[in-house]
Amino acid sequence: MNIQDLIRDNVKSLKPYSSARDEYKNASANMVFLDANENPFNTGCNRYPDPQQNSVKDVLAKQKGVSKSKILLGNGSDEVLDLIFRAFCNPNKDNIITLPPTYGMYEVLANINAIEIIKVNLSDKFQPQVDTILKASNQNSKLLFLCSPNNPSGNSFSSNEVETLLNEFNGIVVIDEAYIDFSEQKSWLNRLDEFSNLIVTQTLSKAYGMAGIRLGICYASEDIISVLNKIKPPYNVNSLSQEKAIEQLLKTDVLKHQIIALKYQREILEIEFNKLEYVRRVYPSDANFLLIKVDDAKKRYNQLIEKGIVVRNRTSQPLCENCLRITIGTKQENEKLIEVLKTL
Ligand SMILES: *Cc1c(COP(=O)(O)O)cnc(C)c1O
Repeated sequence: MNIQDLIRDNVKSLKPYSSARDEYKNASANMVFLDANENPFNTGCNRYPDPQQNSVKDVLAKQKGVSKSKILLGNGSDEVLDLIFRAFCNPNKDNIITLPPTYGMYEVLANINAIEIIKVNLSDKFQPQVDTILKASNQNSKLLFLCSPNNPSGNSFSSNEVETLLNEFNGIVVIDEAYIDFSEQKSWLNRLDEFSNLIVTQTLSKAYGMAGIRLGICYASEDIISVLNKIKPPYNVNSLSQEKAIEQLLKTDVLKHQIIALKYQREILEIEFNKLEYVRRVYPSDANFLLIKVDDAKKRYNQLIEKGIVVRNRTSQPLCENCLRITIGTKQENEKLIEVLKTL
């Protein structure tokens, strides 16, 4: 597939903003910097951040075994996803395909960018319906969003089906791997070089425990990354977030143990939920949350609020009637949850 054919004409022809740090890149050099109208008095943050976040990318490149030129960082995955829309989708002309029930931001971003949404529901096992998806797509279908593990269902998509979509869909396939660290499945990152139309997004907001710093990661071919780089705001990841990200990425042992602990707690919650008579179903999860079907989601949601516990009511989503999405908390939080659920 020729990626150049998918890029919007105005994006292809635009000349990007060139910042002071783009024009003289070596910020660590022993130079007198009088080029960016910064305040010279040191506050720790008086200088603009590295627009290419090289130190963060060095760590990621090493940990993930991906070349730095295939990484783009954003102010959360939400910014990364928005950049993908703006690079490939012509307002009031193109469309994207989403597979409900899924992450709500794809639809919001499509609406912001005036892009039509073609929705093809997941199967009753929450898997992509490949034939229906391919039939529903047309020459204006630019992006297909696959969220795996999927939010809110929690399951991963079967790799055969994802592979067929990567081969057959005539646009960009975005695989949102926000929850990949909790999954038994391998990341599609390992297969970036096989599919020129593949974008993998990850985030520090979930397994890495850094939702507050807003750091989203996009992995793709150099062709795709260079287009996204061209349109991103010059200083889109601030200095404090870059520092914190490096610090946290290097805590590999702590993170590994937290993930093991959360997966163990997920198992315990699954067992305990299944004991409750008003719980109709606990869906299998590859993520740090469980989707459960109850007798009356609104009633159970409100009862939990009264006891000081907030979960997410997903009942209005397709295939999620009377479903609650419950994040795995600490051992103590989960014990409190179970204790309260037993009293309802
Ligand atoms: C939480 C979540 C994200 C994370 O978004 P950030 O902007 O990086 O915090 C992305 N995708 C899905 C499916 C999520 O559930």
